[in-house]
Amino acid sequence: MAYSRELFERAEDIMNQRRLQAEAQAEKRRREFSEAEPRYPALQRDLAEGTMKIMQVIGMGKGAAEFVEQHRQKCQLMQEGIRELLREHGLPADYLSTKYQCPICEDSGTDGSHYCQCMKKLLKELAFKQAGERSPLTISRFEDFSLHYYQGEQQRHMQNILQYCRDYTDTFDRDSYSLLFYGETGLGKTHLSLAIAGQLIEKGLFVLYDSTQNIMNRLERERFGRGTSDGEYEKMLYDCDLLILDDLGTEFSTQFTVSALYNIINNRLLSGKPTVISTNMDLKGIEEKYTKRIASRIVGEYELLHFVGNDVRQQKKTEM
Ligand SMILES: [Zn+2]
Repeated sequence: MAYSRELFERAEDIMNQRRLQAEAQAEKRRREFSEAEPRYPALQRDLAEGTMKIMQVIGMGKGAAEFVEQHRQKCQLMQEGIRELLREHGLPADYLSTKYQCPICEDSGTDGSHYCQCMKKLLKELAFKQAGERSPLTISRFEDFSLHYYQGEQQRHMQNILQYCRDYTDTFDRDSYSLLFYGETGLGKTHLSLAIAGQLIEKGLFVLYDSTQNIMNRLERERFGRGTSDGEYEKMLYDCDLLILDDLGTEFSTQFTVSALYNIINNRLLSGKPTVISTNMDLKGIEEKYTKRIASRIVGEYELLHFVGNDVRQQKKTEM
């Protein structure tokens, strides 16, 4: 995946912070231990001097080898002495060493010639975060989904949908179905899709949530604008673990949006990545607005969940 320069700079800043933080914490532990254990500072100083001497003579020819060996043994004794002090204080042997988040690159982000795995992971996280930044992801929770706004048969039906969404989230993986939430406005489609998103994000999955309008706007800017994003956003729409397209049908539809929607749906089905679409339209409306091709992909491959009831938002208003 190609990342923007800005993203690299942010990642490097974070790596720097991690490294400085790890070093500062180790320094603090050494300072505290010096105060608690008066024998430690002298040992530590001698060890540092010994190490320095070894560094100075390395590679200096005859006689140096013997000198290095002598001092190396002394250093080992001092290290053993420090470990003994730590043991006396009930502390682990590595208590005074710097604990980097990534022991491979010591939080530098590279192994000298390539980016370290930790840096690649960070870049990916930042890219996904950036993509989701505009989403109204004030997390909804399943617990807050109130069934008392629905009556009788409709309540039982919505109870089943709620349970389905909970199970879906608990067992979510690549084999999970794609879902279509359809039904009138104000019946909890956004609430439940955000609840799914919230729980999966907590599990550490990459979830992209946004209104279809915002997604299309952004895709269009990326395709036709002067940005330097290299199709980064489009790729993320295809790659994320779960994509949630909210409010399909309210966006201004053009040839571009219709073909973009088909590509998103189709690409994700082909790579086995689930998508959740919510819409106020019925299946016929989808076919009319987006072509038969798109409608038949959805009907054929998605799990269709029909939301029923009376507008919950209106009911809440009259309750207040
Ligand atoms: Zn690393």
